[in-house]
Amino acid sequence: MLYDIAVIGAGPAGSTAAKSCAVRGLKTLCLDRRAFPRPKTCGGGITTAALNTIGFPLPGQMVLSQICNLQSFFQDKSVRISHPRAFMVIADRSVFDNFLMERAIEAGVEFRQRENVTGLTRENNHLVIRTQTGSYQARAIIGADGVHSTTAKLAGIPGRHQKCALCLSVEVPANPGKVEKESIKIFYDLLPQGYGWIFPKGDRLSVGLGCFKSSYGNLRKGLQTLAARTRLDLPDTVRGHYIPYGGQTRECVADGIILAGDAAGFTDPFTGEGIRFAIISGMLAGETLWNCSRHGLPPNKKNLAGYVNKCQQAFLRDLRYSYMLSKTFFAFPSVMHRFLFDRSEIYSSLLNILEGRYSYSRLTREVMVELPKYCLRWPKPHISKTGQIQE
Ligand SMILES: Cc1cc2nc3c(=O)[nH]c(=O)nc-3n(C[C@H](O)[C@H](O)[C@H](O)COP(=O)(O)OP(=O)(O)OC[C@H]3O[C@@H](n4cnc5c(N)ncnc54)[C@H](O)[C@@H]3O)c2cc1C
Repeated sequence: MLYDIAVIGAGPAGSTAAKSCAVRGLKTLCLDRRAFPRPKTCGGGITTAALNTIGFPLPGQMVLSQICNLQSFFQDKSVRISHPRAFMVIADRSVFDNFLMERAIEAGVEFRQRENVTGLTRENNHLVIRTQTGSYQARAIIGADGVHSTTAKLAGIPGRHQKCALCLSVEVPANPGKVEKESIKIFYDLLPQGYGWIFPKGDRLSVGLGCFKSSYGNLRKGLQTLAARTRLDLPDTVRGHYIPYGGQTRECVADGIILAGDAAGFTDPFTGEGIRFAIISGMLAGETLWNCSRHGLPPNKKNLAGYVNKCQQAFLRDLRYSYMLSKTFFAFPSVMHRFLFDRSEIYSSLLNILEGRYSYSRLTREVMVELPKYCLRWPKPHISKTGQIQE
């Protein structure tokens, strides 16, 4: 059978892309190598902006916590920002991803589980996908198979793994009565070029640490520091996971093929948020292939270029500002933390970004205007060449 679209991977990018094709009447297949619901290592933070893109509410029992407070720590300083509304909910990713996939199946997607894609060839005007158990034919493919995307590798799309943050993440039982269910904690002083987090996840805590490449070697020590500081009993062996960050120039289309979500490298370099951009890019991938189909255009690289432009407009341009901001933030940690902790009204704009009501470009402009004023304030602090403030 020849499918119009085959989606490889059934995470948030894949299920959304597949649904977006099926609701438009395209014959859509979705393949995943795992049996669903499958485990997925993740903080489980689904921002309000991400929730708004899904277009339907999550069932109440799926929401483990509603987050309204952010507590941040840097050396002897800390700041707590209370937001008037929840800017994020926490969910179990295996349950959340399964729920999205069920909505896609309802829309008409044919879902095949335990199908590990291993090969891809072009024949006449369609593609042949080989899995460990069989083969499928489709006019076009959406590669939504995550950070280690097999689709990108098989299609010869370059740029994989070039820009990735590395994370250590673990779930531990929460100490009942000691957990603030509505607060997340962020630690900026555990290692250079990265941060640690504690998210409440029902009766458990998601504890993790992520950093840019230059700090990969400091991750384990950073996790030990976090364990010591919070008196949490963390396991000795914790697996690392890559997060590919956006705001970079990367290829994400080839003839007949579009990459979406982590496969395309679409996460926020500042926060690590990826679910929102997986969902948006999945929708845009489906929309782009639908436009080719209804205008009778072949889904070649030229006709798919519109997808990249749509992603640029929807979020990629803003993620460039996020990248610039995070690089500045980690290059001058003392100055930036003092500034953002003292001027918490500016720092709280980050929560508006997570709600989708503010942008990194506006936040960057605000920082560029206010930071020099802050540094020149009276009494004037002395800023050393390494960016340390000495009063
Ligand atoms: C430790 C950690 C914490 C995070 N916390 C958050 C958070 O709190 N909030 C947030 O927004 N983001 C978070 N992220 C990022 C987020 O998890 C990703 O951005 C998001 O999962 C991307 O979705 P996706 O659909 O692109 O890929 P995935 O969710 O990775 O889905 C890819 C799917 O493809 C399938 N697949 C892979 N290879 C094949 C193959 N060869 N054949 C068939 N199927 C295949 C996999 O089984 C998988 O189901 C975190 C990431 C990490 C590593």
